[in-house]
Amino acid sequence: MAATKIAENQVVTLHYTLRNDAGEVIDTSEGEEPLAVIYGLGDLVPGLERALLGLSVGEHLDVVVSPEDGYGERSGEGGKAVPRDAFPEGVTVEEGMCFDVEDDEGDVQTFWVSEVDGDKVIIDLDHPLAGETLHFSIDIIAVRDASPEELDHGHVH
Ligand code: ZN
Repeated sequence: MAATKIAENQVVTLHYTLRNDAGEVIDTSEGEEPLAVIYGLGDLVPGLERALLGLSVGEHLDVVVSPEDGYGERSGEGGKAVPRDAFPEGVTVEEGMCFDVEDDEGDVQTFWVSEVDGDKVIIDLDHPLAGETLHFSIDIIAVRDASPEELDHGHVH
C-alpha cells in the first residue's frame, strides 16, 4: 500500500526547525513533541502548507518562505503603548502573547505584545515574524486521516 500523502483533512505530525535569513534558530520542535496539525485549516503559514502538499511519512523538506507567504509584511505602523490596566484582571501579560480584540463593529483584530515595561505594554499589529523570510526544515513523522470528530473540532486529538 502506498504511503498516505499530505492532503486536506490529513493529520500531519512533523518536526520542524525555523531559521531566519541569518541562519539563527527562531523556533524548533527538536527535543520536544512533534507538531501535529490538520492539514488545510490554516494552522501553518501558506508557503509552508503549499510546500508540504503531497509529501509522505519519512520525507524531509527544506523550504524558504517569503514574508508574503509567511507572517506578512511589516505594516510599518510600529508598536503602540497601552496601559497595563487595559488588559483583563488576572491575565498575565507577557512578551510574545497575542490577543484578539473585537471592535464596536464586531471586527476581530489580532495584536501581539512586543514589550512589557512596568505599567506600560507595547502592542503591535504585526506578527513578531512579519517581514521575515522563513527557512523551514521539516521532517514528516506521520500522516493519517483525521477522524470525523477531529474535523468537527478543528484540531488534532
Ligand atoms: Zn476536540
